Amino acid sequence: MITGKTKIVGIIGCPLGHSLSPLIHNAAFAALELDYAYIPLPVQPDDLGQVVTGLKTMGFVGANVTIPHKVTIMPYLDELDASAQLAGAVNTIVITAGRSIGYNTDAQGFIHSLTTKSIPVKGKTAVIMGAGGAARAVICGLAAAGIDRIIIGTRSAAKLQEFVKLLPEKTTIQGYDWHGEDFVNALTQCDILINCTPIGMSSSLEVQLPIHWKDVKSTAIVCDLIYNPPVTQFLADAQSRGHRTMNGAGMLVEQGALAFELWTKEKAPRSIMFAILSKIT
Ligand code: NAP
Repeated sequence: MITGKTKIVGIIGCPLGHSLSPLIHNAAFAALELDYAYIPLPVQPDDLGQVVTGLKTMGFVGANVTIPHKVTIMPYLDELDASAQLAGAVNTIVITAGRSIGYNTDAQGFIHSLTTKSIPVKGKTAVIMGAGGAARAVICGLAAAGIDRIIIGTRSAAKLQEFVKLLPEKTTIQGYDWHGEDFVNALTQCDILINCTPIGMSSSLEVQLPIHWKDVKSTAIVCDLIYNPPVTQFLADAQSRGHRTMNGAGMLVEQGALAFELWTKEKAPRSIMFAILSKIT
């Protein structure tokens, strides 16, 4: 029940219809009997600055940030935690003493989801589809976990050089236009293939990721950051060719649990968060 003392957090994004974060966080607050509520905040790109000011003036405790604002929200925040500086993207805001501080819990959330499924990273080659906020966080997580090589495929090769410059230096990173021959060759080396684009989300247009499946090793593990629907076309294609797959549910729960802990300073009830997610997907 919302009271006069309820603390408010929200999720800033556009579109938000796919997001299960409100259900997961409200279930977690209820389970711990915390007087918090989590609400959707659909925001257009031009309004980001006003919205960050609004969060502070309206006494929000914090917010999550999702597609497409994870990178573009950064200049509007008062401070960036090291996790956000490293990833070059923000998925969690904490408001403390009227100041907005940006964090990134996606990198840790993604690596945790691989670890719990015993998917090895050290010494492997990963192919990342997309070069947005989530891709950056995944790349930083993989680099910290000891990946050997990262290959990025994107639809807009012009943005790639700028993107690669922002990434950790010690990892070997190459980027290609995902329609080019170099990318097709790179796919043959892949141990872990990860979709970090919104292609496949319930709300997305009928676009397909350009994967030549015959060039992907049968042992490659195929991951999608998307969790709604739980099996995207990309994962269904991979499964039909016998690949082991993982969707974004584990990452969603762990990045959410870490954000919950930043806002409430309480240990997040991860098993309850997983249970609610399994019930609704
Ligand atoms: P973003 O910052 O907007 O980046 C999206 C990337 O996908 C960009 O590189 C974009 O290319 C590329 N892209 C390629 N084709 C596209 C198309 N048809 N429509 C839109 N983008 C296209 O988004 P994000 O925050 O990185 O999120 C990416 C996906 O990961 C979303 O589906 C999000 O829900 C999911 N995600 C899941 C979790 C989880 O916890 N499971 C966490 C984070 C994100 P351009 O640069 O050319 O635009």
